[in-house]
Amino acid sequence: MQPPDRSAQIGALYQELILDHYRRPRNKGELERADQSALMKNPLCGDEIGVHVRLDGDVISDLSFSGRGCSISQASASMMTQLVKGKRLDDVEALRSRFREMVMGDATAADDSSLGSARALSGVCKFPARVKCALLAWNALERALANRTE
Ligand code: ZN
Repeated sequence: MQPPDRSAQIGALYQELILDHYRRPRNKGELERADQSALMKNPLCGDEIGVHVRLDGDVISDLSFSGRGCSISQASASMMTQLVKGKRLDDVEALRSRFREMVMGDATAADDSSLGSARALSGVCKFPARVKCALLAWNALERALANRTE
């Protein structure tokens, strides 16, 4: 039997991370005193994600997500909240576009340590139907932040 190669080991590790975030989601639930919220759905898969944000100036001081859906959508939401909590809005925007590049198949983005555990979702670029699942929470975050000025 061949020993597993490095990419197979990373794949298994990433799979574990996705399952861990799916089973024990971080920052899930309602958020007291949320400044802005947005709900987005992915009808192709049945995913629904709400994102609730509290702002302190141009910093996301706290956020949470709610909703239900497949393991990819839920794990991505959990990872997203961990990644952007405490970050300035311009840094959040940079992370959002980096994450989008990664799930569209950009290999340099998949190696970008600024994406933290969210890199576990880099493999979805091979499954176009799942890209929407992975992006749902990030799109809901963008909408929640855009709602702010309305
Ligand atoms: Zn899904």
